[in-house]
Amino acid sequence: MKSVTSTILALALLFPNVAIAAPLPPPGADGRLFGHLPYGDIAAVDLVPAPPGFSIGATCRINRDAAADLARLLVAAADTPGVGNSLRAISCHRGVAHQESVFCRGRHHAPCADPSYRARSVAPPGYSEHATGYAIDFGVRPTRGCADVDYCFASTPAGQWLMAHAPEFGFELSFPAANRQGVTWEPWHWRWVGTRIEEPGAAAARLLFARARSLYPALPAARDVLGTNAAAVAIPARRIVAVGVKLPDISSARVRRR
Ligand SMILES: [Zn+2]
Repeated sequence: MKSVTSTILALALLFPNVAIAAPLPPPGADGRLFGHLPYGDIAAVDLVPAPPGFSIGATCRINRDAAADLARLLVAAADTPGVGNSLRAISCHRGVAHQESVFCRGRHHAPCADPSYRARSVAPPGYSEHATGYAIDFGVRPTRGCADVDYCFASTPAGQWLMAHAPEFGFELSFPAANRQGVTWEPWHWRWVGTRIEEPGAAAARLLFARARSLYPALPAARDVLGTNAAAVAIPARRIVAVGVKLPDISSARVRRR
C-alpha cells in the first residue's frame, strides 16, 4: 500500500500548479501544534467591519469588542506626524477554513511539504489568533519599499508608533522577537485584549488568551491604565463615529490592492 508521502508526491507530479498539503499531526499533550495554541472560530454575528479605507485587500472584519479601540488607535496614528494615514490592515479575521488556505495553499508552496517549518511563520488552521477576530496584521501604504508582513515593518514610522502606543489602545504584540513559543517574530501581528479589564469585552479576550499571555508574554503587552481609559481621554469624542472612524484624506491615499 502506498504511503501518504508517496501519494502526495504523485499528486504533486500530476498537478504541479496545485499545492498539496501534507497532513497535520495531532497536537501535543499540552494542546499545542508546532508551538501554536488552539483557537476556534468566532461567531460571525460578533464580527464587524473595520473602519472604511483601513483594509488593503478584501473586507477586514474584527471582533466587535475591539472595534472602538481600533478606531481610536487609527485616529491617534493619523494625527501623528510621520505616520499619518499610512497604517493599513493586511489581514484581520481569518476563519479556520481560510487559515487552511493561508497555511498550505498560499504563495509559499514549498514549505507546505514541511508543516513544522511553515508553522514557524504561519499558524496551522485551528491554531491562529486571527480566527478569534481579535488579531490584526498591520502594514503601511505607501509601502516605500517595505513589503507586507516583512520585518522592515518594525522600522517604519507606523510600526514604531505601534510599538510605542498600541498598548494604550488595548493591543499587544503576540509574537515578540525571540519569543519562547518558537514562533517567528511578527512585528505586524497585534491582538486586542482591551486597555483595562473593566472595558467591555476585555475580560473575555483576556480569558481567551490567558494561556498565551502567561506562558509566552506579549511585548509590548497591554496593561491596565490606572483609573481611566487614557486612549479614550486623549482622542476628542467628535473624531469617533460609532465604531467607525473618519480617516482624514483616506480617499487620496494610494492603496494597492492585492
Ligand atoms: Zn497575523
